[in-house]
Amino acid sequence: MANPQTKKKRKKQQSVIVLEEQLEAEVQNAVEVTEALEELKKQGNRIDIQVCPRCKSPKVRRAKSTGGDMWAHIGMLPPSYECPDCGWQERIVLKATNKPLNVRDVELIREAMEVEDEKP
Ligand SMILES: [Zn+2]
Repeated sequence: MANPQTKKKRKKQQSVIVLEEQLEAEVQNAVEVTEALEELKKQGNRIDIQVCPRCKSPKVRRAKSTGGDMWAHIGMLPPSYECPDCGWQERIVLKATNKPLNVRDVELIREAMEVEDEKP
């Protein structure tokens, strides 16, 4: 039972706690995705799950196309995705998969994570 005065002084500490909670949610999401994929693998299903690169939520969905998204409509750009959990929105999305990865998949993941090749 902290009184309001001590609460005010703890503002900084509270923001640290919020950060920790976010991190916990992120880990929890990642664990859930992994478990779901393992379960499907046992059932013989091989699938891709789109996960939010920010909070690892598997609830990522195709964003409703807006007027400015004509490039995606004509196939010039990948469609936008959005995360209902943290509000993230991008054209690229990370995929968790239980398929065996081939070279092309690894390249796509590297692209999505913006891994830069070392320049010679
Ligand atoms: Zn998210």
